[in-house]
Amino acid sequence: MVSVDEASSIVFSNLLGCSKESVRFSDAVNRVLAERITADRDFPPFHRVSMDGIAILFDEWKAGRREFNIEDVQAAGVGQKALGNPQNCLEVMTGAILPAGADTVVRYEDIEVKDGSAFVQVDSLRAGQNIHKKGQDAKAAAVLLEPGMMLSAAEVALLASVGKSNVQVYCFPTTAIVATGDELVDVQSTPLLHQIRRSNTYAIQAAMKGMGWEACTFHLADKKDEMVASLKQIVDDHDVVVLSGGVSKGKFDFVPQVLEEIGVRKRFYKVNQKPGKPFWFGTSDSAKVIFALPGNPVSTFMCFFRYVKPWALKCLGIVEPTHSAILAEDFSYEGSTTYFLQVAVKIEDGVVRAYPRAGGGSGDFANLKDVNGFLELPSGPDKFQAGQKYPCFQFRHY
Ligand code: AMP
Ligand code: MG
Repeated sequence: MVSVDEASSIVFSNLLGCSKESVRFSDAVNRVLAERITADRDFPPFHRVSMDGIAILFDEWKAGRREFNIEDVQAAGVGQKALGNPQNCLEVMTGAILPAGADTVVRYEDIEVKDGSAFVQVDSLRAGQNIHKKGQDAKAAAVLLEPGMMLSAAEVALLASVGKSNVQVYCFPTTAIVATGDELVDVQSTPLLHQIRRSNTYAIQAAMKGMGWEACTFHLADKKDEMVASLKQIVDDHDVVVLSGGVSKGKFDFVPQVLEEIGVRKRFYKVNQKPGKPFWFGTSDSAKVIFALPGNPVSTFMCFFRYVKPWALKCLGIVEPTHSAILAEDFSYEGSTTYFLQVAVKIEDGVVRAYPRAGGGSGDFANLKDVNGFLELPSGPDKFQAGQKYPCFQFRHY
C-alpha cells in the first residue's frame, strides 16, 4: 500500500506524450495551444479614434481657437480622410481611422455643435487625447500567445483578430473507459431487482468531456477469460484505459490479475485513502497508462478528480494548482488514512470555506449533488478543527 503522496508522484511520473491537431479557433476554448501565435499587423493597426466627437489639430486649440468648422465625417470602416484646412475639424466616430492632418479628438460631451461648427467647451485638452495609437498594444510580429497555454474566450478574440481560423492544439491520448460488473446494465434498460444501471463510466466520460477529452466506453463482465481477451484488445487500441470496479477483494474482482496477465506492469495497488483504497495503477512498455479505480461511485469520482484529471492536464503541460479551503466545521473520523471528505465549498467574504457533507459512504453518489468538492484530510489525526486549511479538489464551481 502507498500513501496518497506516493500514489500521486508515481502517477505524475508516468506522463504520456501528446499529439497535435488543428481545430477551428472558435472550438479552441479549454484546449491547450500547440503553436506560437504572433501579431499579423500592429495592434491596433491604425491610429484608432476611441471616442465619438471631432478630430482637430492640437496646435490650433493651443493657439486659442475654440470654433472649428466641420468639413466632413470620418466614420468607422471608411478609408482615411484628410483635414483640408488645419483650422477646421472632422466629426469622427469610435473605431474610425484618425483623419490625416488631425492629432487630437475632442468628445461630443465637450463640444457644442451649431450651424456647421463645433465649439470646444472645455478649458483643458491633452495633445493626442482619445486616440488609441497604432501599435500601442502590440507591434506586428510580436508574440501574442505561447504554446502550452490553455485557451479561454479572451484568446479566441486574439486568434480571430490575427486571422487564425484554424489553430494547432494538443490532443489527449486515445482513451477508453471500462466498466466491469455483472450487475451493471445499460442506461436504456430496465434493471431487474438485482441489477443497477451503469453510471460511473458516464460520470468519467462527462468529466473528461468538460475538459475537451474524448473517450469511448466499454463494459466487461466479471468473467476472467472474457476479460483477458477484451482488455488486451482495449489496451492495444488505446493509450489510456480508465477502469472502474473489479479491483477489490471479491471473488470476481479479476481486474488486477487480468491486467498483469496481459502484460501491464503494476506500479501500485492500494492507496492509504478513504474512499478509493483498492486503486490499482499500472503502465506497459508500449507507453500505456492504466488507472483501475474502485467501482464504488464516490471512489471512482474522487479518484478521477484527484489523480486522473491532474495527470491528463500534466501530460498537456498544464500543472493544475492545488487549491485549499478552510474547514468550516469540526470534523472527526476513525482510521489512520487520508480521508477525502465530501464538502460544499463556498466563498464567503473572500474566504473559501468547506462545509462537511460526508454522505452515506462511497456508494452514496446521490450525495455528490449536494457537494462540490473533496477536502483532503491527512492521515494521522482523527479530529479536525474548524479553521484549519486543507487541499481541496473541486468538481463544480457554481
Ligand atoms: P466493485 O469495485 O466492482 O466491487 O464495485 C463496487 C460497487 O460499485 C458495487 O456496488 C458496484 O455495483 C458499483 N459499481 C461498479 N461499477 C459501477 C458503475 N460503472 N456504475 C455504477 N456502479 C458501479
Ligand atoms: Mg464489481
